[in-house]
Amino acid sequence: MEFSMFCSRISFLILIIVLSSPPKFNQSPMDFGPLNLLQATNTSSLDFGRIYFNSPSAVVRPKSPKEISLLLSSLSGSSFSKVTVAARGAGHSINGQAQALNGIVVEMDSLPSSIKIRKRVDGESSPSYVDVSGGTLWVDLLKETLKEGLAPRSWTDYLYLTIGGTLSNAGISGQTFKYGPQISNVLQLDVVTGRGDIVTCSPTISSELFYGVLGGLGQFGIITSARILLQEAPRKVKWVRAYYDDFDIFTKDQELLIGMGNMVDYLEGFIVLNKESLHGGSISFPFPANLASIPQFQSEPSKVYYCIEFAVYDQADKNTNLDQVVEEISSKMSFMPSLLYSVEVSYFDFLQRVRMEEISLRELGLWDVSHPWLNMFVPKSGIAQFRDLLLENISPSTFMGPILIYPISRDKWNLNMSAVLPESISGENIIYIVGILRSANPTSCSQECLQGYLRQNLNITNIATDPKGGIGAKQYLSHHRKEEQWREHFGGKWQQFLGRKKAFDPLNILAPGQGIFKRRYSMNPTTTTTTTLTLSSSQ
Ligand code: FAD
Repeated sequence: MEFSMFCSRISFLILIIVLSSPPKFNQSPMDFGPLNLLQATNTSSLDFGRIYFNSPSAVVRPKSPKEISLLLSSLSGSSFSKVTVAARGAGHSINGQAQALNGIVVEMDSLPSSIKIRKRVDGESSPSYVDVSGGTLWVDLLKETLKEGLAPRSWTDYLYLTIGGTLSNAGISGQTFKYGPQISNVLQLDVVTGRGDIVTCSPTISSELFYGVLGGLGQFGIITSARILLQEAPRKVKWVRAYYDDFDIFTKDQELLIGMGNMVDYLEGFIVLNKESLHGGSISFPFPANLASIPQFQSEPSKVYYCIEFAVYDQADKNTNLDQVVEEISSKMSFMPSLLYSVEVSYFDFLQRVRMEEISLRELGLWDVSHPWLNMFVPKSGIAQFRDLLLENISPSTFMGPILIYPISRDKWNLNMSAVLPESISGENIIYIVGILRSANPTSCSQECLQGYLRQNLNITNIATDPKGGIGAKQYLSHHRKEEQWREHFGGKWQQFLGRKKAFDPLNILAPGQGIFKRRYSMNPTTTTTTTLTLSSSQ
């Protein structure tokens, strides 16, 4: 036996023993052959929410999917380990979803970033696509694809999130009504399952894993690569905002716009609660004047307004006259007289709009603060009731942060994927996304105040998701702590979710921060040594 192989086997035996021991590894950093277990860092217990700070016992920075496989197969082969593993993308979760208390955090940014574009050749029926590693940020993917004149079709509002992180949820934004969420734009995935198997899956190969992983909250495997559909990148974007003082007219116009998918390329909207939210996003979308001084907004200063935000793209192959298209669309809308503003920006700047807000908030010290966010999917039939519930529970004058509200179509989602939407009520196709994206500035909001916000969120969630309450909403980026709450969340999809968990991560090793399943011991206590040796010799 070669000396290096011998060392590798010994290392793995030690690894198994350490992983099976009580939490906290004291050595630092530890070298276990091909896998380096590093000491936990502050970032491994931190996320954008700044509400939970669960510290892992160790961090792994894999250099290849094989190293992730090695870790997971040794853990799933160990009969006495209780160690859990969380993939950490960009750590932009709110409620500790990428944390692993006393477990191992796998930092996905350590995988070599790989972006391989396959451009459609003229006359070919298959579309352009890109193969991209799971830890890559969407912004880096955008930069690379733009070099080829291409871009993904469906986005999130913010691009400093990882491919694997958003595909584990859904990935939604103003393009979702047209192209579906990001998970509807994936052709193939490379995944390391909770058992440690490295699997390439697609709608036709290992499809159960493919559909399970998309929107699967990291429960079935770690995405190491994704094949994502591309389209011709727009050259420019006409970005428009229109204001409303009536909720029904606002939502009617939004629904009108999502029915105009041949002209409208992006649709969102937000509630204007106070002067600050009137100027929301003004860094990336410069307003012509001080909006608050416009007579329409002055009549009742405490009144709540609404803003529709839509965009039209100038696609190279279509030669769109942007002004003409915007005029045609807006002529059908019923916004407050003369309250329509537009700017023309590059596609990159349009997609980077939240980054510009981030830079400004960072300068003010308001980015790295607690974010008690709540995201909901609300059926069209319950959206007015939900708005009332929301306004009863928050204080509009002091609320800090945007409240997004915009419709999408259910038929752009593949319901075989794990992502959960509200149950369909009498065939209703339209669902509203509501993002209550509150910041808790520590200078004005104490721990007690933060807890108060969390209680408000819980109250809104309980009422909006109560099956008897008439709203029928579901959480997006869900946060539940008990299995029965998750069972209720998944509703008719729970048995399928459970079946997939048993098949791909039977010991519940993965993504413990979601709080869905408790870690289990191996059913077969005799496998430890065999698994260890098998793994070692496969090195
Ligand atoms: P992380 O927070 O690191 O991880 C999230 C979950 O996915 C964890 O359970 C983790 O274990 C798991 N995971 C991470 N990587 C992988 C992988 N490779 N394979 C399997 N599981 C993995 N969401 C939207 O849909 N639309 C938006 O417009 C949007 N805007 C946002 C704006 C901001 C400023 C922020 C902070 C968040 C926003 N989000 C949005 C939410 C965001 O999509 C999710 O929080 C997402 O999980 C963040 O990605 P991440 O890479 O930071 O994931």
